[in-house]
Amino acid sequence: MSWKCEIVTDLAPLYHDKEASKASRKLVKEHLRECPECRAYYKKYRPVETMAAEEPVSDGVENFVLLAKKMRRRRQLLWLGFLFYFAGTMWALVLHHQYKTDKFLTKNKIFKIL
Ligand SMILES: [Zn+2]
Repeated sequence: MSWKCEIVTDLAPLYHDKEASKASRKLVKEHLRECPECRAYYKKYRPVETMAAEEPVSDGVENFVLLAKKMRRRRQLLWLGFLFYFAGTMWALVLHHQYKTDKFLTKNKIFKIL
């Protein structure tokens, strides 16, 4: 690897992001044209969108879908638990209220009715 190659590989990220100075850009451009090694290195700095389009669906994506499914299921269970807790609390409150306001059917009242 020549000193030029080292400089060009150092500048590759800056060149790709268009952050390099005009002189650096010129140097990198010219060198990339004549050096296949550096061209190969520079290919690593392709935009992310084009890379995503080229690569097949990886296990990572499938794992993510699985994880999302798991999280949805957990959220549903949490909601169900909360609903039962809420319904139970309301039921207890209603019973308590009925008992306090004497609308509650106690054993004695039932006997009176009968
Ligand atoms: Zn080179």
